[in-house]
Amino acid sequence: MAKKQFKAQSKRLLEMMIHSIYSQKEIFLRELISNASDAIDKSYYYALQNENISFDKDDFYIRLSVDTDKRLLTVEDTGIGMSAEELEKNLGTIAESGSFAFRKESDEQEGVDIIGQFGVGFYSAFMVADEVTVLTKRAGAEACQWYSKGADGYTVTPAEKDTVGTLITLHIKEDTAEEDYSQYLDTYRLQALVRKHSDFIKYPIKMLCEETRPVEGKEGETETVLQDRILNSMVPIWRKNKNELTAEDYENFYMERRYGWQKPLKYIHTGVDGEFSYTALLYIPSAAPFNYYSKDFEKGLALYSSGVMIMEKCGELLPDCFGFVQGLVDSSDISLNISREILQQDRTLKLIAKNIEKKIKKELDNLLKNDREGYEKFFAEFGRQLKFGLYESWGQNKTLLQDLLLFHSGKQDKLITLAEYTQGMKEEDKVIYYATGESVARIGKMPQTESVLAEGKDVLFFTEQVDEFAIKVLGEYAGKTFRNVSEVDPAENTLDQTPFAELLEFAKKTLGGKVSDITVSDRLSGHPVCLRARGELSIEMEKTLSQMPQGGAPKAEKVLEINASHDILEVLKASLSDEEKAAAIVRVLYAQALLIEGLTPEDPVGYANDVCNLIK
Ligand code: ADP
Repeated sequence: MAKKQFKAQSKRLLEMMIHSIYSQKEIFLRELISNASDAIDKSYYYALQNENISFDKDDFYIRLSVDTDKRLLTVEDTGIGMSAEELEKNLGTIAESGSFAFRKESDEQEGVDIIGQFGVGFYSAFMVADEVTVLTKRAGAEACQWYSKGADGYTVTPAEKDTVGTLITLHIKEDTAEEDYSQYLDTYRLQALVRKHSDFIKYPIKMLCEETRPVEGKEGETETVLQDRILNSMVPIWRKNKNELTAEDYENFYMERRYGWQKPLKYIHTGVDGEFSYTALLYIPSAAPFNYYSKDFEKGLALYSSGVMIMEKCGELLPDCFGFVQGLVDSSDISLNISREILQQDRTLKLIAKNIEKKIKKELDNLLKNDREGYEKFFAEFGRQLKFGLYESWGQNKTLLQDLLLFHSGKQDKLITLAEYTQGMKEEDKVIYYATGESVARIGKMPQTESVLAEGKDVLFFTEQVDEFAIKVLGEYAGKTFRNVSEVDPAENTLDQTPFAELLEFAKKTLGGKVSDITVSDRLSGHPVCLRARGELSIEMEKTLSQMPQGGAPKAEKVLEINASHDILEVLKASLSDEEKAAAIVRVLYAQALLIEGLTPEDPVGYANDVCNLIK
């Protein structure tokens, strides 16, 4: 029988597992049990849906067993099982497992992070075992067996197994000076691990446990017998009473479900009884999953119908803007046999989704009000999502989202809400100013920003591409309109241009069509030039649009503004007799204005030469 090689990534991951220095090796058990439970969810759902399958609820369980002498630990489930092809696909390549993707070259340290972050499921068995066998049977398929001693490969062979389900056998590593592996053969330790990590698994996790009891009829004598025991409490956490549960329970469940790898920021355990009823357990993660802002991320909550999982990720339950929320919904008003297509139209589901949206919003409002630091942490991770939510809904989510936004305030040098901005405004002020750029430091140095701040008005610093798009969609806030500090407002530049006519004409001729206008102003304090945009499209938006793959993006209408009280204007005026020099000065000023905006001069070499020629 030919040994097969793991796919390259899986092999690297496996090697990391085998040599893992990760201190939480015990989580391997949680991973195997969660897989078993997922597999039972599938077979249970299948049995419920098919009227011609008769079954007993007791048929669905997980069993742990130990053979201390042979150093074997088995995890058996009566789940869906796998066919030979599925074994290959699921356990031969980790990339297929859906919960894992490599980002950079691995090293020991990163290995620790990966295990901590992703759990990585099945392969974590190799943290404690040097041989793993998976004997499995899927309904209607031949039984088969997967076997591996680690990174050098695996075999898949036909096997004997009568019942549907999976039996995973680990040969536990020998103890080392640093590591006590034998603990995973100790039934007391295993019981404790199940209670700690897998208590809410809703199928019984059984094990034969040693029990000492008095011998009947023989006073004072005891005997040790094996007793079958259910190790977990089995009541799904969301069906328990809130006051029976501790924060740790909620956190453990979060880990058990692999919703995230760090403690969640918030959990919401809520329900409604009435016209429709449901219970929901929702989590706001404290960190965004690595793929959150990519198309690989799938939002959604698990959907249960009276305790039976009918869908792992139901996207309809969450609005996109709160797509980061993890958790589940259990409702007796959702039919067990509902199909994905019908679900999308389902009125109850829509009502539940609306309700959940409100709960999340309320939780975020509370966080913002009562725990500013916590909210800012949340916003650092998911603020961009809220802004996208506003933009992508074309303002439909305005009331939901506008008060959840934070922007850096130039005046106060901290994050503020739009409400906080307007509270600081004078009654007669009608405009909320913002400036765009790649960093707070860079925006702070922009002449346009400085001049508005100098007037005592605040400026919101937009450092993300989506910011300005979101604000445009918002249109106004509390009756105030938004204005980019770089936007040309003809009413504001009151300086008479006539004395500069000759100079401006020359400059326009020099720059050709690169700018739509050139003006002179007295509002740039110490700075020589800046660039402003006229009309709807700002320079920042031009930058974003130019990165879109379609090409042919529209350009902002640019106006070059020169500072009337800057010496450079005198120098330029005096140089008009030397056309070459004057043209070089104009080109340099224009290039500088571009640089300030974070744009690249069209001809950087020409710019460098111009500067040197002027200096020498
Ligand atoms: P994940 O569970 O995150 O997808 P794993 O590496 O733990 O990743 O498992 C890979 C896949 O193998 C699972 O998605 C599932 O399809 C399959 N699998 C694992 N364990 C079992 C099991 N006990 N019964 C049936 N299928 C299983």
